[in-house]
Amino acid sequence: MKTRYIAVTGGVISGLGKGVVTSSLGYLLKAQGYSVTSIKIDPYINVDAGTMRPTEHGEVFVTYDGGETDQDMGTYERFLDVELSKKNNITTGQIYRTVIEKERNLEYGGKTVEVIPHIPQEIKRRIREAANISKADFVLIEIGGTVGDYQSVLFLEAVREMRLEGDDIIYVHVAYLPIPDNLGEMKTKPAQHSIRELNEIGLQPDIFIGRSEKPMDDARKEKISFICNMKKDCILSAPDLNNIYEEPIVLDDEGLTRTLLKKFSLTYKENTLKEWKRFISKIKNLNKKIKIGIVGKYFDIGDFSLEDSYVSVIESIKHAAWHNDHIPVIKWIDSKIFENNPGKLNSLDEFNGLIVPGGFGKSGVEGKILAIKYARENNIPYLGLCYGMQLAIVEYARNICGLKDAHTTEINPKTKHPVIDILPEQKKNIENSNYGATMRLGDYKAKLKKNTKIWELYGKKEDVSERHRHRYEVNPKYINILEEKGMVFSGSSPDRRLMEFMELPGQKYFVGTQGHPEFKSRVLKPHPMFNGLVKAAINKKAR
Ligand code: GLN
Repeated sequence: MKTRYIAVTGGVISGLGKGVVTSSLGYLLKAQGYSVTSIKIDPYINVDAGTMRPTEHGEVFVTYDGGETDQDMGTYERFLDVELSKKNNITTGQIYRTVIEKERNLEYGGKTVEVIPHIPQEIKRRIREAANISKADFVLIEIGGTVGDYQSVLFLEAVREMRLEGDDIIYVHVAYLPIPDNLGEMKTKPAQHSIRELNEIGLQPDIFIGRSEKPMDDARKEKISFICNMKKDCILSAPDLNNIYEEPIVLDDEGLTRTLLKKFSLTYKENTLKEWKRFISKIKNLNKKIKIGIVGKYFDIGDFSLEDSYVSVIESIKHAAWHNDHIPVIKWIDSKIFENNPGKLNSLDEFNGLIVPGGFGKSGVEGKILAIKYARENNIPYLGLCYGMQLAIVEYARNICGLKDAHTTEINPKTKHPVIDILPEQKKNIENSNYGATMRLGDYKAKLKKNTKIWELYGKKEDVSERHRHRYEVNPKYINILEEKGMVFSGSSPDRRLMEFMELPGQKYFVGTQGHPEFKSRVLKPHPMFNGLVKAAINKKAR
């Protein structure tokens, strides 16, 4: 089958939920029996999301091949249950870097290298390359930003040229329909203008999806249809939902799947959403709650939503809670509170389970260590993700192994007991300020120890693999002493040099990993480590 492309643009405001619409659209096609991949285009100049603060840009999503990418890539993976390459996240920085490198290498044969045509050329090359790698029937291209922004014009130009050059591509425009309080009625004018903006650069959307607080009525659909030159069955409504995972069902009911397939002359199959519908109706009818606390540093957030910085962790908790027939109640706990006031630690008693997620830097670290100690001493189910595992080891070294000032050298380079340290080969890179090369990124294999909790959680498999994003590791010199005092390293790199998983056998549930399992949890397939946490949390609640 020839590759079919669907380019998705956004209008009126940012933060429309275009990623969820794109992912849902992908899911609908997948349910029809097609293979689907998704490309995210980010118009910023950063080469990747790795150098951006999560509180500014949201989570850095790590791909299997070590890409540090936009959080929408995670939404695609969760909806589509696929693993995307870093090549599926294209930024302005990558495009310009390549064009300039090619120019320096004389690859333009003496021509003047210009924004048009050379930038769109490189954009198209990358889109087609990502499509080729995936071999998918459908390739979704989500163009970040809002139509009318200077910075996305060249990407719009590229997808315009694709149709001209014979690619089978359709354009879907998603825009916001406000309902101003003083008027109390839905206005379509801003959306009309955003479509006109597309027309000006030569693009006519094939399908329009209106995002709004409430459903769009027929009269408004007719208006947009008439003014914007689209058949009425191509104007669809996507109102706000309590649960983003309902989106595919809502869009299918609106006729999206049928309309899309018609555009590509393909036939619609009935009843392809049974499993998804069963799952949605199940979670709507849940009534038992499970309370999970995420302990982190949360001071420099300002107006930024925390949910965005840890979206994969949150979604993983939800997947596992739903799988176990519970409503997840997720709360943020600012670890700094415990530093100033350790008396407040007993506020953790209200939680059925605790997580310390990934992180960098010294802020709030002592508070996290106190919270981990409290979880261990009070047998509160605990899951440590990356930093959360490193700090659990620091806590154990200090309080059980008697290594008073044990620490990670990320925070205290002069500690007498560097239980978490940078490995010698990475030290060199840091000394040369070559930070890009100092992280362990992407998929790494691990060997699990038989008869451990982790081995059981993973279905008694010995060979597993998880995604990584960190510089520091468990210091091999301290493994013996930690093990003598009862800690079990339940998984390591195949060469046994790097400790990947730990657990405390005396506890109901106390596990940690150097990896980031949150990147591999799926809506209908929760990750075993989150599943284990939720199961232990439910047990604790029952006690
Ligand atoms: N800061 C730690 C390290 O670099 C942990 C990183 C993380 O949690 N992703 O090793």
